[in-house]
Amino acid sequence: MRIADVQTHILNYDLDTRFQSSFSTFQARTHCLVEITCEDGTVGWGECLGPAVLNGAVVEQMRGWLIGKNPLETERLWLTLYHQFRDQGQRGVTITALSGIDIALWDIKGKHFGAPVHVLLGGAFRTQVKAYATGGFRRVGGERVSDMVRETAGYVAEGFEAMKIKIGYGAVEDIATIEAVRDAIGPDTHLMIDANHGYDALEAIQVGNAVADLGIDWFEEPVVPEDLDGYIEVKQRQPIPVAGGETWYTRWNMLDVLKSGAVDILQPDVCGVGGLSESVKIADMAAAFGVRLIPHVWGTGVAIAAGLQYLAVLPDVPPRHEPRQPWLEFDRTENPFRQAVLTTPIEHEAGVVAVPQGPGLGIEIDRAALEQYRL
Ligand SMILES: [Mg+2]
Repeated sequence: MRIADVQTHILNYDLDTRFQSSFSTFQARTHCLVEITCEDGTVGWGECLGPAVLNGAVVEQMRGWLIGKNPLETERLWLTLYHQFRDQGQRGVTITALSGIDIALWDIKGKHFGAPVHVLLGGAFRTQVKAYATGGFRRVGGERVSDMVRETAGYVAEGFEAMKIKIGYGAVEDIATIEAVRDAIGPDTHLMIDANHGYDALEAIQVGNAVADLGIDWFEEPVVPEDLDGYIEVKQRQPIPVAGGETWYTRWNMLDVLKSGAVDILQPDVCGVGGLSESVKIADMAAAFGVRLIPHVWGTGVAIAAGLQYLAVLPDVPPRHEPRQPWLEFDRTENPFRQAVLTTPIEHEAGVVAVPQGPGLGIEIDRAALEQYRL
């Protein structure tokens, strides 16, 4: 079995309403899919987190090391590419591009052996996961508090038991928003807050303490990812569990994070951290360090499927009769091609999502949607 071709598909949709995280304004949804074709006609799909056009360019640079190779040798190919790009590429777009390639190779492997990826990775601990609604961005031109009350109440009505909102715009606005949302969704709905590193440690500590009695499950990316000392300070000086991981890359970066004790909950993104090959290693590392792991997911149905295959194989830590379950991050913001790229969309039912059981990632791609949304 040999790789015949590696292609990328850059998909784009210009948003009707722009929205903001703490530091960026989203004008469009743009994502990069990776398609690897084998000489026998088998096709595998992957996705890269982050800047789509740059990811496409890096995948194109990596293509030469893949053509003619055996796609089943996922570990060898991962290390070959990592070694080739290591000197300037230990983090960031090199690794997000490698992630998309690795996921596509696992999809091929699953199709080749007629098994879902979670079987090849050692077997599933679960066949479905509870999803938390992710959204809560700041709408450009909107009214922050009433927007958030309306949006989060909608998630409760849809059946979600958990949701995450964005903060990191400024302590006064953020505290008012969190208080209003808790009021709107009631005491029993899980609520998480994500600052997208919009604070320094002092402001994060101020916000964490101000909302500490509102039952927040975790406080995500309080400070910039380079500032592990800041993470530790936030962990020590406010009581909400601290989470992070979507901007850290590979086992080596995660080792620094785990050794420093920077987070209570690690959030690797399969499409960013180095693909499925690297994600399972990081799950083992987190378990060995006694740190909870709940993956980050942001992208199309391909990313969601990869996230679900990963969620399926996360071991119960600790094992017990009714183990604590990891959540699926389920993006609810505007993106018409998120599910349209799949012939069978991955939907939630009352906040629960099934792990795809077909070979590979367990999805099929709708090529008409790729054409419709091509950049
Ligand atoms: Mg986040």
